[in-house]
Amino acid sequence: MHSDPVDLSTSPLEGAIPGCRACRLSRRGFLVSALGAVALPALAVGATSHVGGTWSTEVPRDALTPADVLNAVLEGNRRFLAGQRQERDVFAQQRAAAAEGQPPKVVFLTCLDSRALMETVCDLGVGESLNVQIAGNVVNEDILGSMESATVSAGAKLVMVVGHTCCGVIRAAIDQVRLGRLTSLMAKIGKAIAATPYPGEKTSRNPAYVDAVASTHVRLTMDAIRAESPILRELEKQGRMAMAGSMYDLGTGRVSLVRERPELA
Ligand SMILES: [Zn+2]
Repeated sequence: MHSDPVDLSTSPLEGAIPGCRACRLSRRGFLVSALGAVALPALAVGATSHVGGTWSTEVPRDALTPADVLNAVLEGNRRFLAGQRQERDVFAQQRAAAAEGQPPKVVFLTCLDSRALMETVCDLGVGESLNVQIAGNVVNEDILGSMESATVSAGAKLVMVVGHTCCGVIRAAIDQVRLGRLTSLMAKIGKAIAATPYPGEKTSRNPAYVDAVASTHVRLTMDAIRAESPILRELEKQGRMAMAGSMYDLGTGRVSLVRERPELA
């Protein structure tokens, strides 16, 4: 990992991705986006999610601010909680996205858990989100590269790190379980365990402690993204993209934002 300064006026991805007629992402358009308009690639112009989408049915993605996107994600979760998910013709959305391109607004980094599917719990339609799922919602170079693609290339305006309650990976990390390749992955959660002050029982049998570690891990993952991806750090700094941390409660279905500096609360 490195932390060299990044100049977004240059094209760090030039030549990396060929043109694609099917999704209307031309190589030229891609390069224009990488060269000058990081958050506004040619792909996005005029692209909206039709056929039962959510906020994007009325407002093109490029007219949205990162704060708009965050509010829309949380509003989608409120619809989910209220049992008012929008009716969608998913097949029609798929065909529209194939013909018109995708305008994803948010990229989620979530744990590998079948119950924490952000499209579902935030009531998102086809083409509205990109999703990275990995045990323990950790990052590595490949995932950071994917996030850079999601923002610089595809135009997502929000990076949301999502931890969840009752996380088995967090519990296993607390228990220092060793299991093949998972051992090195869980080692990345060690910093969160060490950085979680907790007055009660600090074991994997205490759900409140497990959730506290998961919340700390979300904050540290956001720090790692900023430290290890100069591109994402610069996009956030320029206000072209926002980052948010959150916890998904498996029991209630609620997505709650994680305060980045709880000691200041
Ligand atoms: Zn998990």
